[in-house]
Amino acid sequence: MTGSGQASGTDDVRTVDVLIVGGGPAGLSAAEAAASGGASVAVLERQKEIGYPVHTSGGSWVADMKAFGIPSDLYHPIKHVRFLSPNREARFEYSEPVCCVLDVRGVYQHLAGRAVRAGATLHPNSPVEGPMLEDGRVVGVVAKDHRNRVGQWRASVVVDASGFSSTIVTKMGLRQGFKRYGYGAEYDLVAPNYNPDTLYLIMGSQVAPAGYAWAFPRSKGRVRLGVGVIRPDVDEDAREYLDTFVQRLPSLAPDFAGSSPVEYHTGLFPSEGVVERFVSDGLIATGDSAGHGSTLVGEGIRFAIYSGQMAGAVAAEAVRAGDSSAQFLGRYDRQWRGRFGREMDISYIVNQRIARWSDARWDEGVEILRRLSPAQAAELLRGDYSVGLFLGVLRKNPGLLRTGSRKFFDVAMQRLGRQAPVTEAEVVSVGQQEA
Ligand SMILES: Cc1cc2nc3c(=O)[nH]c(=O)nc-3n(C[C@H](O)[C@H](O)[C@H](O)COP(=O)(O)OP(=O)(O)OC[C@H]3O[C@@H](n4cnc5c(N)ncnc54)[C@H](O)[C@@H]3O)c2cc1C
Repeated sequence: MTGSGQASGTDDVRTVDVLIVGGGPAGLSAAEAAASGGASVAVLERQKEIGYPVHTSGGSWVADMKAFGIPSDLYHPIKHVRFLSPNREARFEYSEPVCCVLDVRGVYQHLAGRAVRAGATLHPNSPVEGPMLEDGRVVGVVAKDHRNRVGQWRASVVVDASGFSSTIVTKMGLRQGFKRYGYGAEYDLVAPNYNPDTLYLIMGSQVAPAGYAWAFPRSKGRVRLGVGVIRPDVDEDAREYLDTFVQRLPSLAPDFAGSSPVEYHTGLFPSEGVVERFVSDGLIATGDSAGHGSTLVGEGIRFAIYSGQMAGAVAAEAVRAGDSSAQFLGRYDRQWRGRFGREMDISYIVNQRIARWSDARWDEGVEILRRLSPAQAAELLRGDYSVGLFLGVLRKNPGLLRTGSRKFFDVAMQRLGRQAPVTEAEVVSVGQQEA
């Protein structure tokens, strides 16, 4: 280890134990974990500011924010969740809020502060150009600094946390760039007439073909109103749907009366499942660059934090062991798949199905949701799948076993360890007992 927690060397060639590409939630969490594990850590971020510009909507979950130790003034708890399809609505009330909307910049700056206090150094305005290789292994990166000088950073482990651009992963050929992705456009509005307790998810070809629209309130009269579409499933431009949102959904016009944008955000989210390999010699990929977000609704912030923490801890272990081979770093791959692999696979199966849904099918889908309890709806939206959850959904909607969805439930339950197909008698008899 270089030991001091700081980089050593000259401006042209600097050396750290762990070099992290990207100061988003994955990179910052990896930095804190690696520095806490005793490694010297540098984070190179191409933007001038951590957490800005914003390219995410910040929808997340109270339990995870508490688990991460995020201060409660950095997220806004939500009491009412409303799913709208062209002709249906499912409403869920949470007296004890489960989901929340983040102050994105605030949370990322908080994570940055923790990384620094753990001993990492952050370098904003420092775009990484590519990996340095020796005998096929990653030994560092070439990057510009804030004065536009090109230099080398040598490291025992490089962590690619560069999000959608996946700067190092792509150049190392671990995968060929994301071909299927969500494209989102969003206004952050001052909206004096919007109910700050209510979050909307809105589906249907009128508002968001092969995707959905959202209204995510945060505190102080601010609301993020956005539209996301999946490419190349559709060609439509999310920006156009965003600009005509109120005309397309006049029932929400009163909520947005008198509102005005204060910020405009766009972003891309990988939507093709988990990358096959996250590690190679000297390299770990984490967060969006490894496809670690849930494709169900394009949710990646908490997953980026969890996977960044795992990546940083394993990077520090590798430094301590003096072994940053792909074989050693593979423990991160196994840990991640053990914890999140099944849920991510199932989410991807669901995403591919619902991306093709017609308006009529969305009406049916929201009707199915309407029959669920608030807790079941939250578990589904979180992607916290279990055999018990799916049986519960089927008990409230036994007719699903007579539709094409039956195959999905059988496959999903197999992934969760239950091999026997569900029978209608089982669902109906238990449903009757519960009733
Ligand atoms: C429109 C939209 C809405 C979303 N809404 C939600 C939501 O509501 N809730 C949710 O949980 N998730 C949401 N997501 C997904 C979420 O934003 C991502 O999953 C999450 O940001 C992934 O974190 P990350 O750290 O892996 O990557 P990022 O947050 O993308 O961070 C990567 C960082 O690396 C930097 N970087 C990139 N290339 C380089 C380089 N060459 N050199 C140096 N730095 C570099 C970038 O500037 C960036 O700061 C949304 C995504 C989009 C596109």
